[in-house]
Amino acid sequence: MSTRALYQEPCAFAGFPLDPADHLRSDAKWIGERLGDPGSLFLVFHKMKPLMDVSDRTNPVPGFLDRAQIPDQAMETAVFLGLLEETAIFAVDLGESIAEGEATGNGVKFIDLRSVALQLFEEEFSPLPALLGKAKSLLDWHARHGCCAVCGAATEISTAGYLRECPSCKAQHFPRTDPVVIMLVHRGDRMLIGRSPGWPKGNYSALAGFVEPGETIEEACRREVKEETGIEIGRVDYIKSQPWPFPSSLMIGLFAEAETEDIRLDEKELEEARWINRAQAKMLLLTGGSEDIRLTPFHIAIARHLIEKWVDMEE
Ligand SMILES: [Zn+2]
Repeated sequence: MSTRALYQEPCAFAGFPLDPADHLRSDAKWIGERLGDPGSLFLVFHKMKPLMDVSDRTNPVPGFLDRAQIPDQAMETAVFLGLLEETAIFAVDLGESIAEGEATGNGVKFIDLRSVALQLFEEEFSPLPALLGKAKSLLDWHARHGCCAVCGAATEISTAGYLRECPSCKAQHFPRTDPVVIMLVHRGDRMLIGRSPGWPKGNYSALAGFVEPGETIEEACRREVKEETGIEIGRVDYIKSQPWPFPSSLMIGLFAEAETEDIRLDEKELEEARWINRAQAKMLLLTGGSEDIRLTPFHIAIARHLIEKWVDMEE
């Protein structure tokens, strides 16, 4: 393992760096003025990819535009992210209002958010993925919720982007967050790792699954592990969480103590699951593993934090 104790840092996409100024969202006059203010800044996306200035490869920064550079058509998607001191920051998706090439050039281009986060996180914690991630989750929600889920009428953006209202049946729709439990299953000196069908060969990680309606976090954890591996879970401990903007999950990181060991795979969910001991896990983290077995190589994933934390713990 590197000397960087990743698990002691917040996860990627945590640590939102602006003042969210939520008391100003419902002030339509103030929001309207800031939207037209030449001093306001717009974090720009194209089909959910953020515009990034990558002219310094080791230090990519978001490519902000001002109001004059944004086509009027795209302003319909503008959402308020917060204040950076006195400056209002919005996010906007250019969508079809512009050809991708028009806003790019001179080291500035639209890049997939996962790649951006991986790059920004390579050396140390950065709050920029949190800013980009929140913007992407909100823009994506608006893009996919243009119609009322109750009556089917076209809905309208409201409250600076934190609400959609139906003019027909008056229903209000709020941006959604989908809770996911992600658990490091352990028993004595061993932990359970698994791989989903379709993952790159050799990649293993912690188990995960969506929380269902009516469940507690602990119940979701026990159900998922039982479903996927047949293993019974007793004690569940909360460790940390991570917003995951693909499109809008909240990853809830847990340690889950196994009460049984025999694995009975649900092959639709998992291609393989196996127990490894702490020394093996430590070695895999230290060496990066082999083509047959690697532990969550993506340092932006909360699973990596959970595994590193458990490996570093005394028994
Ligand atoms: Zn409606």
